Order: sequence, then structure tokens, then C-alpha cells
Amino acid sequence: YSLATPGVQRLVPYTPGKPIEELERELGLSDIVKLASNENPLGPSPMALAAINATLPDLARYPDGNGFKLKRALAEKFSVEMSQITLGNGSNEILELLARAFLTSTHEVIFSQHAFAVYPIVTQAVGATGVVIPARAYGHDLDAMLAAVNDKTRLVFIANPNNPTGTLLASDELRRFIAALPSHVLCVLDEAYYEFIDPKSRADSIAWLVDHPNLIVTRTFSKAYGLAGLRVGYSFSNPGIADFLNRVRQPFNNNMLALAAAEAALADHEHLQRTIAINNDGMQQLIDGFRQLELEWIPSAGNFVSVDVKRSGEAVYQALLQKGVIVRPVANYEMPDYLRISIGTPAENSRCLEALKAVLADV
Ligand code: PMP
Repeated sequence: YSLATPGVQRLVPYTPGKPIEELERELGLSDIVKLASNENPLGPSPMALAAINATLPDLARYPDGNGFKLKRALAEKFSVEMSQITLGNGSNEILELLARAFLTSTHEVIFSQHAFAVYPIVTQAVGATGVVIPARAYGHDLDAMLAAVNDKTRLVFIANPNNPTGTLLASDELRRFIAALPSHVLCVLDEAYYEFIDPKSRADSIAWLVDHPNLIVTRTFSKAYGLAGLRVGYSFSNPGIADFLNRVRQPFNNNMLALAAAEAALADHEHLQRTIAINNDGMQQLIDGFRQLELEWIPSAGNFVSVDVKRSGEAVYQALLQKGVIVRPVANYEMPDYLRISIGTPAENSRCLEALKAVLADV
């Protein structure tokens, strides 16, 4: 249909996985293991579930369109002003709000090869031009990204850790990059997997906001907080940027259950710590398994790991699917020989490794 804008016509749709029930029916299986979307294998915090239950009687009302209580909790936890916070329907929505508020067809947007698939979508949807910078060792090449900045550049996306590679930039390197950006360029630091980073390696990115008014830090409740299904993301920025994001967002972009659950999840430190612990153990379990299978992987700071299966990732993915294990082929990220595997429970990780062993003997 030729009436779509040129940028939109060039887009390839983001393809989410099929619902598990549908796959189970198709494959005649009842015990599918899904390690494909970087979700929390422990599920949501019990405190979040209780908050949802307590909110159910209010569903005839509109939600709080300013998300006051969640913003207050975030402001307190991260020592920022409420005016610096924007809430989104998933952090994906924040990325989109940024594109809508700050980009026109005259602008260029810089992101890395193998970077998150939503960056080109939000860029091209508003007619701006994406500039893809070749990766260095599967991670961001910050020098090359800086060298690509020109007068037309309005925004740079950096995912740290990156999805699907899991690569992490050193904090000092990242800060130098942000400091070197000219003031007409916004830096969107996408920290969707922040909580999984080893505390020794975490960037103190929120503290950088004071010196860098062009910085936006985005985070989410979808990963470590186990609320992917509710769609809650947030950003920290200077209040001026938050004000513009607020002008373009839909008035009730976060639903009432999501707001209540996110606020409760934020207070459940124990659930978060259990999540991080099971992730660290599971990462080690998968890596040990890869080593036994003589496979190489990209060291990951997230809750997933990309492994080089040394043959078509799509073929291995299909074969694993037949065994009831869903992982993510990443050919669309220019990594045709890799599979991205989310860290699951110990039993799920074992199932995945066993299936991988059997499949690699065949494919
Ligand atoms: N950024 C990155 C790097 C991601 O991997 C994801 C989830 N796939 C998101 C943002 C968006 O997550 P959500 O919209 O669920 O917050």
C-alpha cells in the first residue's frame, strides 16, 4: 500500500513470538519452555499481585493520568525530582515519545549495528533517518558513533547492556561519550536490563543527569521486576525534556493495575534479589553447558545470552521448537549463526541445554 511514508515502507515489523498455548496446540506438547523474551522466570512479585487484587474494584475509574504514586516511589528510590520522571506503556513507549517529541524528517538518529529493534522503528515512523554504526566486538563502537555526529544528528540510542548481544560499556567510557556529544544531540541511555548488571560495573547514570541536560535514562518493569505483561517503563531526564514527553503522550498511557503493581514491585527488594540471584546462577549454568558443547557465547550483563551455534540459528531454533524449547533466533539483528537464550529456572535451563545438545547432533 503505497501511501505509507517512505520510512515506514522500509520498516520490517517487529515479530513477537506466538502465544505458548497456540504453540503447544500446534506441536502437540504440554510443557513448552519459553526462554525467548528475557522475562523473569520467577514471575511477578507477590506484592505486585496483591496490589493488583486490591485495585480491581476501582477498574470503572480512569487511572491516575499523572501516575503520581509510582512517580513518587521512583523519585524517592532514585533520589530524583518527580518532574524528571516520565512513565510509559513499557519503556518502548518512552522511546517512541522521544521520537515524536524531538525528531522530524530532517533529523538523523545514530544507533549501533545489533542494537535493539525498536530504535529503527520509532526513528523511521516519524520520517527521521537511522544511521547504523558497525559494532565493535558485538558492542557499541562509541568512537565511531561520535564521529558520525553532524548538524543533522538529533538523537543517539545506546542500550547498556545491549539486547541481543548483552554487551556492557564501561562506565567511564560511556560518560566520556556523553560529555563529548554536542548539546543539540540527545543521548538516550536504554537501561532495560540495569538491575542485572554486576553492581561493580554499573554506571551511575542517574547522577550524570545533573551535568548532562541532553541525557535520558530509560528503564523498565518488564525484566527484573517481572511485569512485562503490564507494560510499565520509565525515564529520568531533565524536567524540560520530561515536559515535552508529557505533551505528546496519551493522557492515560499507563493502566491502573500496572501503576499499582509497579509501585508494589519497586518495594519488593527480596523478590528483586532472588531474581538477580537466579539469573546469576542460571547464566553460569548455561555458560557451563555451552562450554561442554564447545560453543562460544558473547559475555552478557543481562538476563539472556547470545550463543554462536556455528550453523543456521534459524534451523537450530526450529529444531529446538519441535522439542518444546523456544529461544530467539537473531538473524534480523545480523547475527545469523546466533541464538539468544533468556535465563530461566535451573530446570528450564537444563531442558534447553539438553535439547540443544540433541539438536546440534542433528542439524
Ligand atoms: N530496551 C531494550 C534494550 C529491550 O531489550 C527491551 C525489551 N525487549 C526494551 C527496551 C523494551 O521493554 P519494555 O517496553 O517491555 O519496557
